[in-house]
Amino acid sequence: MDSVRRVTRLLMKQIRPRAQTLTSLLGFLGLASLLVAKAADSNAAAEPPIVNPGPPPSDAVVLFDGKDLSKWRGENGAARWDLKDGTMMVNGTGSLISKETFGDCQLHLEWAAPEEVQDEGQGRGNSGVYLLGRYEIQELDSYNNQTYPDGQAGAFYGHAAPLVNVARKPGEWQTYDIIFHAPRTAADGTIKPGSFTVLHNGVLVQDHVPIPGEPTTAAQFRGIAAEGPLVLQDHGNPVRFRNIWIRRL
Ligand code: MG
Repeated sequence: MDSVRRVTRLLMKQIRPRAQTLTSLLGFLGLASLLVAKAADSNAAAEPPIVNPGPPPSDAVVLFDGKDLSKWRGENGAARWDLKDGTMMVNGTGSLISKETFGDCQLHLEWAAPEEVQDEGQGRGNSGVYLLGRYEIQELDSYNNQTYPDGQAGAFYGHAAPLVNVARKPGEWQTYDIIFHAPRTAADGTIKPGSFTVLHNGVLVQDHVPIPGEPTTAAQFRGIAAEGPLVLQDHGNPVRFRNIWIRRL
Protein backbone atom coordinates (compact mmCIF):
# COMPACT_ATOMS: atom_id res chain seq x y z
CA MET A 1 0.00 0.00 0.00
CA ASP A 2 2.84 2.31 0.90
CA SER A 3 4.43 1.72 -2.41
CA VAL A 4 1.18 2.65 -4.18
CA ARG A 5 1.05 5.89 -2.19
CA ARG A 6 4.67 6.60 -3.02
CA VAL A 7 4.09 6.09 -6.72
CA THR A 8 0.95 8.26 -6.62
CA ARG A 9 2.83 11.06 -4.82
CA LEU A 10 5.64 10.81 -7.35
CA LEU A 11 3.19 10.97 -10.24
CA MET A 12 1.43 14.02 -8.77
CA LYS A 13 4.79 15.75 -8.42
CA GLN A 14 5.37 15.17 -12.10
CA ILE A 15 1.90 16.15 -13.26
CA ARG A 16 1.10 19.16 -11.07
CA PRO A 17 3.70 21.59 -12.47
CA ARG A 18 2.69 20.62 -16.00
CA ALA A 19 -0.94 21.08 -15.14
CA GLN A 20 -0.13 24.50 -13.73
CA THR A 21 1.82 25.40 -16.88
CA LEU A 22 -1.06 24.19 -19.00
CA THR A 23 -3.54 26.20 -16.94
CA SER A 24 -1.50 29.37 -17.24
CA LEU A 25 -1.00 28.75 -20.96
CA LEU A 26 -4.74 28.36 -21.43
CA GLY A 27 -5.25 31.49 -19.38
CA PHE A 28 -2.80 33.40 -21.55
CA LEU A 29 -4.43 32.14 -24.76
CA GLY A 30 -7.82 33.14 -23.44
CA LEU A 31 -6.61 36.64 -22.65
CA ALA A 32 -4.85 36.91 -26.00
CA SER A 33 -7.93 35.88 -27.95
CA LEU A 34 -9.98 38.37 -25.93
CA LEU A 35 -7.56 41.13 -26.87
CA VAL A 36 -7.58 40.11 -30.57
CA ALA A 37 -11.37 40.07 -30.56
CA LYS A 38 -11.40 43.50 -28.94
CA ALA A 39 -8.95 44.88 -31.53
CA ALA A 40 -11.07 43.45 -34.36
CA ASP A 41 -14.09 45.08 -32.77
CA SER A 42 -12.45 48.48 -32.59
CA ASN A 43 -11.30 48.12 -36.23
CA ALA A 44 -14.83 47.43 -37.24
CA ALA A 45 -15.94 50.47 -35.27
CA ALA A 46 -13.37 52.85 -36.85
CA GLU A 47 -15.40 54.40 -39.64
CA PRO A 48 -13.68 56.31 -42.47
CA PRO A 49 -13.76 60.08 -42.01
CA ILE A 50 -16.67 61.87 -43.62
CA VAL A 51 -15.66 64.05 -46.58
CA ASN A 52 -18.03 66.32 -48.44
CA PRO A 53 -17.19 65.61 -52.10
CA GLY A 54 -17.57 69.24 -53.14
CA PRO A 55 -15.88 69.89 -55.50
CA PRO A 56 -13.47 70.67 -54.05
CA PRO A 57 -13.58 67.87 -51.43
CA SER A 58 -13.82 69.24 -47.89
CA ASP A 59 -10.40 67.77 -46.91
CA ALA A 60 -8.56 69.25 -49.90
CA VAL A 61 -6.10 72.15 -49.85
CA VAL A 62 -7.39 74.60 -52.44
CA LEU A 63 -4.39 76.02 -54.31
CA PHE A 64 -6.33 78.14 -56.80
CA ASP A 65 -10.02 79.05 -56.76
CA GLY A 66 -9.86 81.87 -59.28
CA LYS A 67 -9.58 84.69 -56.73
CA ASP A 68 -5.85 85.22 -56.15
CA LEU A 69 -2.34 83.78 -56.42
CA SER A 70 -1.77 83.80 -52.63
CA LYS A 71 -0.84 80.09 -52.50
CA TRP A 72 1.95 80.57 -55.06
CA ARG A 73 5.28 82.28 -55.49
CA GLY A 74 7.37 82.92 -58.58
CA GLU A 75 10.83 81.55 -59.36
CA ASN A 76 12.25 84.82 -57.97
CA GLY A 77 9.77 86.62 -55.77
CA ALA A 78 6.02 86.98 -56.07
CA ALA A 79 3.76 85.05 -58.46
CA ARG A 80 2.93 87.32 -61.40
CA TRP A 81 0.79 85.31 -63.80
CA ASP A 82 -2.23 87.06 -65.32
CA LEU A 83 -5.34 86.69 -63.18
CA LYS A 84 -8.54 87.08 -65.21
CA ASP A 85 -12.11 85.76 -65.11
CA GLY A 86 -11.34 83.16 -62.44
CA THR A 87 -8.31 81.82 -64.29
CA MET A 88 -4.57 82.36 -64.14
CA MET A 89 -2.45 82.40 -67.26
CA VAL A 90 1.22 81.82 -68.07
CA ASN A 91 2.70 85.13 -69.23
CA GLY A 92 6.45 84.65 -69.49
CA THR A 93 7.22 85.70 -65.87
CA GLY A 94 8.45 82.22 -64.94
CA SER A 95 6.98 79.09 -63.41
CA LEU A 96 4.74 79.12 -60.35
CA ILE A 97 5.80 77.27 -57.20
CA SER A 98 3.32 76.36 -54.46
CA LYS A 99 4.22 77.85 -51.06
CA GLU A 100 3.14 74.65 -49.30
CA THR A 101 4.92 71.35 -49.91
CA PHE A 102 3.25 68.00 -50.50
CA GLY A 103 4.22 64.33 -50.64
CA ASP A 104 1.90 61.51 -51.69
CA CYS A 105 -1.26 63.16 -52.93
CA GLN A 106 -4.33 63.34 -55.12
CA LEU A 107 -4.24 66.41 -57.34
CA HIS A 108 -6.97 67.95 -59.46
CA LEU A 109 -6.34 70.75 -61.90
CA GLU A 110 -7.93 72.21 -65.00
CA TRP A 111 -6.02 73.77 -67.84
CA ALA A 112 -6.57 75.05 -71.37
CA ALA A 113 -4.15 75.43 -74.26
CA PRO A 114 -4.38 78.77 -76.11
CA GLU A 115 -7.36 79.00 -78.44
CA GLU A 116 -5.24 80.63 -81.09
CA VAL A 117 -3.05 77.88 -82.52
CA GLN A 118 0.56 78.90 -82.96
CA ASP A 119 3.67 76.87 -83.67
CA GLU A 120 3.72 73.07 -83.53
CA GLY A 121 5.08 70.08 -81.63
CA GLN A 122 6.51 71.05 -78.23
CA GLY A 123 6.00 74.73 -79.06
CA ARG A 124 2.19 74.53 -79.05
CA GLY A 125 0.36 75.05 -75.75
CA ASN A 126 3.22 73.68 -73.65
CA SER A 127 3.08 73.80 -69.86
CA GLY A 128 3.04 71.07 -67.24
CA VAL A 129 2.71 70.24 -63.60
CA TYR A 130 5.69 69.00 -61.61
CA LEU A 131 4.86 66.90 -58.54
CA LEU A 132 7.41 67.41 -55.75
CA GLY A 133 8.85 70.05 -58.13
CA ARG A 134 10.54 67.11 -59.87
CA TYR A 135 8.26 64.82 -61.88
CA GLU A 136 6.32 66.38 -64.77
CA ILE A 137 2.97 65.41 -66.16
CA GLN A 138 3.05 67.21 -69.48
CA GLU A 139 0.51 69.71 -70.69
CA LEU A 140 0.53 70.33 -74.43
CA ASP A 141 -1.96 71.13 -77.16
CA SER A 142 -2.07 67.54 -78.41
CA TYR A 143 -5.13 68.08 -80.60
CA ASN A 144 -3.90 67.38 -84.15
CA ASN A 145 -0.34 68.10 -83.10
CA GLN A 146 2.41 65.53 -83.61
CA THR A 147 5.29 65.22 -81.19
CA TYR A 148 7.23 62.40 -79.50
CA PRO A 149 4.74 60.21 -77.57
CA ASP A 150 6.31 60.64 -74.12
CA GLY A 151 6.15 64.40 -74.60
CA GLN A 152 2.47 64.81 -75.47
CA ALA A 153 -0.41 65.80 -73.18
CA GLY A 154 -0.87 63.30 -70.34
CA ALA A 155 2.69 61.95 -70.65
CA PHE A 156 4.96 61.41 -67.68
CA TYR A 157 7.47 63.55 -69.53
CA GLY A 158 10.37 61.57 -70.97
CA HIS A 159 9.23 58.36 -69.30
CA ALA A 160 5.76 57.21 -70.32
CA ALA A 161 3.42 58.15 -73.17
CA PRO A 162 -0.26 58.39 -72.26
CA LEU A 163 -2.29 55.21 -72.94
CA VAL A 164 -4.62 57.23 -75.18
CA ASN A 165 -4.81 60.77 -76.54
CA VAL A 166 -7.93 62.38 -75.06
CA ALA A 167 -6.94 65.98 -75.77
CA ARG A 168 -9.74 68.48 -76.22
CA LYS A 169 -9.59 71.25 -78.83
CA PRO A 170 -7.32 74.25 -78.14
CA GLY A 171 -9.05 76.77 -75.89
CA GLU A 172 -11.29 74.13 -74.26
CA TRP A 173 -10.91 73.29 -70.57
CA GLN A 174 -9.29 69.96 -69.74
CA THR A 175 -8.92 68.14 -66.43
CA TYR A 176 -6.08 66.23 -64.83
CA ASP A 177 -6.68 63.98 -61.84
CA ILE A 178 -3.39 62.65 -60.58
CA ILE A 179 -2.59 60.08 -57.88
CA PHE A 180 1.03 60.49 -56.95
CA HIS A 181 3.31 58.43 -54.72
CA ALA A 182 6.82 59.77 -54.24
CA PRO A 183 9.94 57.63 -54.78
CA ARG A 184 11.66 56.83 -51.49
CA THR A 185 15.09 55.82 -50.31
CA ALA A 186 14.98 52.31 -48.82
CA ALA A 187 16.94 51.32 -45.69
CA ASP A 188 19.69 49.77 -47.86
CA GLY A 189 20.11 53.03 -49.78
CA THR A 190 18.42 51.86 -52.98
CA ILE A 191 15.55 53.88 -54.45
CA LYS A 192 12.06 52.46 -54.18
CA PRO A 193 10.17 53.87 -57.19
CA GLY A 194 7.08 56.02 -56.74
CA SER A 195 4.06 55.93 -59.05
CA PHE A 196 1.79 58.06 -61.24
CA THR A 197 -1.83 57.28 -61.99
CA VAL A 198 -3.37 59.95 -64.19
CA LEU A 199 -6.84 60.59 -65.62
CA HIS A 200 -6.99 63.12 -68.45
CA ASN A 201 -10.50 64.45 -69.00
CA GLY A 202 -11.71 61.55 -66.83
CA VAL A 203 -9.95 58.89 -68.93
CA LEU A 204 -7.08 56.77 -67.58
CA VAL A 205 -3.82 57.71 -69.33
CA GLN A 206 -1.17 56.61 -66.78
CA ASP A 207 -1.91 53.36 -64.95
CA HIS A 208 0.27 53.14 -61.83
CA VAL A 209 3.41 53.95 -63.83
CA PRO A 210 6.68 53.74 -61.86
CA ILE A 211 8.65 56.91 -61.07
CA PRO A 212 12.30 55.83 -60.95
CA GLY A 213 13.51 58.88 -59.00
CA GLU A 214 15.54 60.95 -61.49
CA PRO A 215 13.88 64.38 -61.92
CA THR A 216 12.26 65.16 -65.28
CA THR A 217 14.00 67.49 -67.77
CA ALA A 218 13.94 71.13 -66.62
CA ALA A 219 12.83 70.23 -63.07
CA GLN A 220 13.63 72.97 -60.55
CA PHE A 221 14.21 70.58 -57.65
CA ARG A 222 16.51 67.56 -57.41
CA GLY A 223 17.20 64.61 -55.16
CA ILE A 224 14.89 62.13 -53.44
CA ALA A 225 12.56 63.86 -51.00
CA ALA A 226 9.41 62.97 -49.11
CA GLU A 227 7.82 66.34 -49.91
CA GLY A 228 8.20 69.20 -52.34
CA PRO A 229 6.20 72.02 -53.89
CA LEU A 230 3.96 71.76 -56.89
CA VAL A 231 5.40 73.60 -59.89
CA LEU A 232 3.36 74.90 -62.83
CA GLN A 233 5.58 75.36 -65.83
CA ASP A 234 6.05 78.56 -67.82
CA HIS A 235 7.12 77.23 -71.22
CA GLY A 236 6.39 80.50 -72.95
CA ASN A 237 2.86 79.61 -74.13
CA PRO A 238 -0.20 81.38 -72.62
CA VAL A 239 -1.74 78.26 -71.04
CA ARG A 240 -4.57 78.95 -68.56
CA PHE A 241 -5.35 77.21 -65.26
CA ARG A 242 -8.33 77.04 -62.90
CA ASN A 243 -9.72 74.93 -60.01
CA ILE A 244 -6.55 73.47 -58.50
CA TRP A 245 -6.90 71.42 -55.32
CA ILE A 246 -4.84 68.73 -53.65
CA ARG A 247 -5.46 66.07 -50.98
CA ARG A 248 -2.63 64.63 -48.91
CA LEU A 249 -2.61 60.82 -48.90
MG1 MG B 1 5.95 70.94 -70.33
